[in-house]
Amino acid sequence: FVFFSSDIEISRAQSPKAVDVLAKEIGLLTDEVEIYGQTKAKVRLSLLERLKDQPDGKYVLVAGITPTPLGEGKSTVTIGLVQALTAHLNINSFACLRQPSQGPTFGVKGGAAGGGYAQVIPMEEFNLHLTGDIHAITAANNLLAAAIDARILHENTQSDKALYNRLVPVVNGVRGFSAIQLARLRRLGISKTDPGTLTEEEINKFARLDIDPSTITWQRVVDTNDRFLRKITVGQANTEKGFVRQAQFDIAVASEIMAILALTTSLQDMKERLGKMVVANDKKGEPITAEDLGVTGALAVLMKDAIKPTLMQTLEGTPVFVHAGPFANIAHGNSSVLADKIALKLVGEKGFVVTEAGFGADIGMEKFFNIKCRASGLVPSVVVLVATVRALKMHGGGPNVTAGAPLKKEYTEENLQLVADGCCNLQKQIQITQLFGVPVVVALNVFKTDSPAEIDLVCKIAKQSGAFDAVPCNHWSAGGRGAVKLAQAVERAANQKNNFKYLYSLELPIVEKIRIIAQKVYGAQDIELSPTAQSQVDRYTRQGFGNLPICMAKTHLSLSHQPERKGVPTGFILPISDVRASIGAGFIYPLVGTMSTMPGLPTRPCFYDIDLDPITEQVKGLF
Ligand code: ADP
Repeated sequence: FVFFSSDIEISRAQSPKAVDVLAKEIGLLTDEVEIYGQTKAKVRLSLLERLKDQPDGKYVLVAGITPTPLGEGKSTVTIGLVQALTAHLNINSFACLRQPSQGPTFGVKGGAAGGGYAQVIPMEEFNLHLTGDIHAITAANNLLAAAIDARILHENTQSDKALYNRLVPVVNGVRGFSAIQLARLRRLGISKTDPGTLTEEEINKFARLDIDPSTITWQRVVDTNDRFLRKITVGQANTEKGFVRQAQFDIAVASEIMAILALTTSLQDMKERLGKMVVANDKKGEPITAEDLGVTGALAVLMKDAIKPTLMQTLEGTPVFVHAGPFANIAHGNSSVLADKIALKLVGEKGFVVTEAGFGADIGMEKFFNIKCRASGLVPSVVVLVATVRALKMHGGGPNVTAGAPLKKEYTEENLQLVADGCCNLQKQIQITQLFGVPVVVALNVFKTDSPAEIDLVCKIAKQSGAFDAVPCNHWSAGGRGAVKLAQAVERAANQKNNFKYLYSLELPIVEKIRIIAQKVYGAQDIELSPTAQSQVDRYTRQGFGNLPICMAKTHLSLSHQPERKGVPTGFILPISDVRASIGAGFIYPLVGTMSTMPGLPTRPCFYDIDLDPITEQVKGLF
């Protein structure tokens, strides 16, 4: 009988070094670091300017096979790999991870700090409020939501002149436009700067956005799995004079502002993206942006600290950036461009930055390449594809698992046939990686029930399927020491010739880009657009948004649109039910079926096990 400690016990058994010590070790200057408590610090973007001539390190993406409820362990592999590189092979490295939402932390999935002896510590800091970035996003998102409804009320209850006089007030005896309002006048083609000289027609054009309430796509957000907010009615108090409408809350990480945080490259760029966010259409069908509502500057102010990545450490004291965590279906599910850029400078030319893409490679990695790498201009050196024997068995036809029930014997005893059958999914994900021209190393995340013959079989099939190498990893039970072979394989793969390319050109029509992803990545026979989807495509194309990359919102549990179809489904037609856009973040997102943007709590959520010891102040039960 082997006793395994829980993730939080392991996390707590290691005391982290002070973050200012860590910051010095990795070459940060005192004025580039903003300390939050003892174990977290934000890093200023000025560092990018100081190190602009320093060559980048190697860029490694950790992706996975199609996820199953049995888990693959992408985060643990990411941490295990940097622990192996830095603490055991003496090569500078950085892990760049997403900040988890508190929805899953208290709901079903638990935290995302890795696990076992490959974790970010302190894991309760990592999994809970961190440095407040998600709260900042919530504040910014909801300010914009409030601005939309308030504007509709005010426009509809005042004359043109009264509205104008309030929007352009007299201050110190003079009526004057703000900088944001002057910019709006320029966009409207009005070259006047003196408020007293506008004609009646110009006053009307300036003062009325004429938002069509039925087209509002901007929702309020909260970082809790609160299913009862999936459909709400706002404006029911008498003070809102009957401006009642149906709306919804999304989980905070589904906010477009989170996707912007993940893709932005500077404060200036973030401001521009925030301003470009389209929140509704006007009554003529033209897009209404955050900039039109005059709120861009305020949003940027709320986000000015969130834009700085948070520095933490692994169990073995190696550096980690935690920054941004966009939803992986309606957004792209990758941590921030800025953290990767800063880390690539800090590790130096011979160093490695390892980051992770959510879901399977068909979704997370495809978006990493086509959306994130496009935004950053960075070129990845290696993909690490994570698989587990148990998940492969499920792809090979193993039985379903029930939450709370013990695992069936197919998963706990040797079964080479199931493993061999399930490797079709691994093979397909390897082929998908090869579409992008980047070498792939398979990391088999070993569980204690895996037999040596099962482990050998997976590695053999992976190599036969075109992987540069395939190695079993024991970082979960042994820390970095258990991932040294993986680190060596990644180092060798990074020296291979790299033919990185995007899957599609942005100039192609929206429908063609969707078809390429569906056929080449998912293996679909074709796609089928609903009439709504087609009319949205036409609208975005007409509005000039046709050249954006595509962010597919599809189930992650199958390569197809049907979650129960494991392995490698073929012959399916991918149904596109709707097409939406995040213009500020910079992508079009087609919906394959319905996508919930507000998860719910199950019968027995994780919070049942979470507790606080009031004497020691220790958190218990997080995983
Ligand atoms: P992913 O990033 O793919 O969602 P994680 O790395 O977060 O997966 O791991 C999910 C959970 O599985 C964590 O609680 C982790 O401790 C556990 N886990 C991962 N690898 C192993 C392993 N080899 N043995 C036992 N548990 C593991």
